[in-house]
Amino acid sequence: MSIKKNLTHIKSQLPNHVTLVAVSKTKSIADVMEAYNAGQRIFGENYVQELVEKQEQLPKDIEWHFIGHLQSRKVKLIAPFVSLIHGVDSLKLVHEINKEALKNNRVIDCLFQIDIADEETKFGLDEKELYDILSSKEFKNLKNIRIIGLMGMATFTDNQDQIKKEFQNLKTIFDKVVTLTAVEGQLETSNVKLETLSMGMSGDYQIATQCGSTMVRIGSSIFGTRR
Ligand SMILES: *Cc1c(COP(=O)(O)O)cnc(C)c1O
Repeated sequence: MSIKKNLTHIKSQLPNHVTLVAVSKTKSIADVMEAYNAGQRIFGENYVQELVEKQEQLPKDIEWHFIGHLQSRKVKLIAPFVSLIHGVDSLKLVHEINKEALKNNRVIDCLFQIDIADEETKFGLDEKELYDILSSKEFKNLKNIRIIGLMGMATFTDNQDQIKKEFQNLKTIFDKVVTLTAVEGQLETSNVKLETLSMGMSGDYQIATQCGSTMVRIGSSIFGTRR
């Protein structure tokens, strides 16, 4: 199937309120352009260098999302243009993003990554670490970063029940934080307004949308398998 057909098929499966991020990592400029010409404007990459090169070469109305694990020293490379950073998982990284956003006279939207998987290899905060950041004074004072949601990855498994439980867990945390950050005197802070729940990839996006995802990150089902 062509990239265009794959996109059309996936879009027909997604509820209207769910945003599709086309994950183009390792894929060529020509592949990205094929998706672009089919109307796709949001793309996700997880290597900084690759993202920077593609951003330079491709149309400027593309919204680039960084979905990988971001090292603090590389933030400056994407800060001028990135539209959403999905995998924020430390206060150190938050500070760095805020600093580079300020230099570029921008406010950068981010998602906190929550570790919901039953695997050692996945990055992310646990619930307590999340609350610790949200309630810290130094975080509340940062004006050039805006937390607009949470992101998570389920365990890589065929066990659908387990995947579902993990996504439900993330949705529960999301709802809790939405409530807490809306109440004065609790975790309310002007740089947090949760509206995006980024969960679901090629293998599990249908479960994810059933569990309340508002943003799915899909690569291989659009562009074919990666080498
Ligand atoms: C690669 C990647 C995806 C897309 O994976 P597919 O299985 O190809 O859809 C989604 N999210 C993250 C964080 C990724 O690194």
